Amino acid sequence: MVRKHTPMDSEKVDRIIAEARAEKARREKTYRERALKIFPWICARCGREFSGKRLRELTVHHKDHNHDNNPLDGSNWELLCLFCHDNEHSRYLDQEGPDEPAPGSDRKPATSFKPFAALDSLLKEKK
Ligand SMILES: [Zn+2]
Ligand SMILES: [Zn+2]
Repeated sequence: MVRKHTPMDSEKVDRIIAEARAEKARREKTYRERALKIFPWICARCGREFSGKRLRELTVHHKDHNHDNNPLDGSNWELLCLFCHDNEHSRYLDQEGPDEPAPGSDRKPATSFKPFAALDSLLKEKK
């Protein structure tokens, strides 16, 4: 008996991935265009100016690192060159939080803050 092998599943998966990619690219293009309309074409970190072909190097950064948060007034966007954008993200990984204290602020470092320490002893008391 001859059974024809149908690679349906992997084809389906490929298609879903391709569609997801296209959708992501489409969304990115939309908010990038919008951001380029409302912001000057300048990297918010290093101040380099971009125009023409080099505009490709200017990317949209999400201040809260949530790419689904795209308010149309641009309040969650920042235009960064590829280099500064990269920097911004490695900094984010190091500090695990976008709300770093301002320079000169005497806020305690996040590591000494244990929000669950009190809760822990409370639970122990209650048994
Ligand atoms: Zn830059
Ligand atoms: Zn970013």
